[in-house]
Amino acid sequence: MVQDSTIKKLAFIHGNVVTMDEKCPRAQAILVIQDKIIKVGSDAEITRLIDEDTEEIDLEGRTLVPGFIDCHAHPMIFGQLLMAVDCRTPPMNSIKEMMEIIRKTAKEKSAREWIQGWGYDEFKLSENRHPTKWDLDAVAPNNPVIIGRMCGHISTVNSLALELAGISKELKDHMGGQIDREPETNEPTGVLRGSARDPVWKRIPSPNIEQLRNGINRAAEQFLARGVTSVSDAGVNAQLGSSQHNTMIMKAYQRAIWQDGMPLRVNLMMSVSVLKELAALGLSTGFGNERLRIGAIKMFADGGSSSRTAAISEPFVDAPDNTGIMYTSPDELCTHILAAHRAGFQVGVHAVGDRAISAVLNAIEAALKQIPKGDHRHRIEHCGVTNPTIISRLKELKVIPVSQPIFLYGEGESYRAGLGDTRMEWTYPLKSFIENGIMISISSDCPATSGSELISPLLGIYMAVTRNTDAGQEIGPTQKIEVEDALRAYTLNSAYATFEDRIKGSIEPGKLADFAILSNNPFTISKPEIKDITVEMTIVGGKIVYQKS
Ligand SMILES: [Zn+2]
Repeated sequence: MVQDSTIKKLAFIHGNVVTMDEKCPRAQAILVIQDKIIKVGSDAEITRLIDEDTEEIDLEGRTLVPGFIDCHAHPMIFGQLLMAVDCRTPPMNSIKEMMEIIRKTAKEKSAREWIQGWGYDEFKLSENRHPTKWDLDAVAPNNPVIIGRMCGHISTVNSLALELAGISKELKDHMGGQIDREPETNEPTGVLRGSARDPVWKRIPSPNIEQLRNGINRAAEQFLARGVTSVSDAGVNAQLGSSQHNTMIMKAYQRAIWQDGMPLRVNLMMSVSVLKELAALGLSTGFGNERLRIGAIKMFADGGSSSRTAAISEPFVDAPDNTGIMYTSPDELCTHILAAHRAGFQVGVHAVGDRAISAVLNAIEAALKQIPKGDHRHRIEHCGVTNPTIISRLKELKVIPVSQPIFLYGEGESYRAGLGDTRMEWTYPLKSFIENGIMISISSDCPATSGSELISPLLGIYMAVTRNTDAGQEIGPTQKIEVEDALRAYTLNSAYATFEDRIKGSIEPGKLADFAILSNNPFTISKPEIKDITVEMTIVGGKIVYQKS
């Protein structure tokens, strides 16, 4: 193979360059050589360096920002879901509509072939409830069916799937899971919460490497089209479990990146279930390179707010007996976090409710007491429902909340119904985090959110600055932040949250040339318009990887 040895030079001129570099916050032009930023400055300064080998991109006044860093998403799962039945709400509005699609799908499948769907939010369905096994049995009696709620914490399955998984009225609930039942007969309804759906998952034939690889490539296209240049897969293998699957996922990522040239940079947050194997090999956070590397160890403390599985201290307003589910006990959290911390890993612990967050903070505090470490950058994924004590402990322990304000767009009204207005002021409290000097990072958690737009960093930024739900209602308005802070949280701070702030996250000489060119300037247009900004071009490592047609 002949190596292309020509030095590639790329100049961006006549732009509004928002750098996130404190020393030079705004510029007009950038010079890139190969995959790195060489100089940032005025048009005059950069034009002087342009020669006949330099490709020029005239920004015509458009805004160029550092490539967005989505440090908590699920591209592998998203890729697989893109091939499943799309039950998102919207465009779906009712169980009736959903069942029509399932009926159609069943007709195309052979008997006993699995049907998988995903993405509904019962709060947005006109029936205002989860679909049940009876709904599914009526349209697909001969195929096992599983439909995942958009959050991933609840699934609904039909009778055949229950039977194959051995879930009957005699089966008792176990730690971390709950089987919904008919009150009189104890019969399962098909709705499975938390780990109660694991026996069903185990029966679904798993995708092979090629299917995983295709899914990753398809998902990557969607991220790149929204200006995302780096993503953290927040839980590689967390849901598939066995070591055979782990091997396949790792191989699928490697093939997508090294053979297909998939340009999205990936951090793999590894499930705590493989911590022992990784530690035995001497691997820890940071192993790899800027294309593909090992990130934090991921574990789950609880569920989510909209599925009412978040572990909270006071019950949900609309479910007075329910204070959510701890997926992992406080003692186990201590054991896992200490083990990961000892092995040199950063931890990223999913905790949404205040009860879960406090348990995680206790465990991190105990681990740090036993093995002090200054720059640990331990993270709490989501860090949803907080209070002043949690905020001061986050600050004291230097823990990074990795928040998803995009949740408040499609799910805000459901959160409000469950948590009430007072608690909403402490839910994803970005302003309080910033005022207390806590480093915040914003991400999408794609595909675990409600609605049709699951990735858009601009929608996430819009929510951080307006706290306006899709119903046009403000939610927890005291927690609105400035555009500059929201953009930093989606770029430089997210690079910090993966220990990569020295190589990316801002536009300054020496860093990777990862940019997004926007259709409008989020600093000058009205705040409601921010969500409509589109990405016109995405650049990763000095290469144009997406261009709006
Ligand atoms: Zn997630």
